[in-house]
Amino acid sequence: MPSSPFCAPLIAEARAWCVACAPAEGVGVIVRTPVGLRVHPLRNVSADPRSGFEVDPLEWARVEDQAVVFFHSHPNGAAGLSARDRAALPRSIEHWVFAERLSRHRFVGGQWIEFTGKTK
Ligand SMILES: [Zn+2]
Repeated sequence: MPSSPFCAPLIAEARAWCVACAPAEGVGVIVRTPVGLRVHPLRNVSADPRSGFEVDPLEWARVEDQAVVFFHSHPNGAAGLSARDRAALPRSIEHWVFAERLSRHRFVGGQWIEFTGKTK
């Protein structure tokens, strides 16, 4: 099995959305479509978008079934999941955090793990 189904252009597109959102946190999902994986940006509707994010529940409901990765950014550069992320993020899906580096996370065996997957 390949270490990752995700190719570099997909990661670059997700990162570009997050960069465009700065200094607010950027947020979005990678969705599975009939023509392949696509980046789907989401709006950050948090009242304080520089230090966190919230997604409109209706907007999330429209993409939830197709989402294979949820991503967001930490414009302050702090890599990895924050305590708030660990408490709030949906555990059934892979998460990417764009910060000083990209980190990737899954909830496995009752805890969040960070994994490294080669991207091609
Ligand atoms: Zn976060």
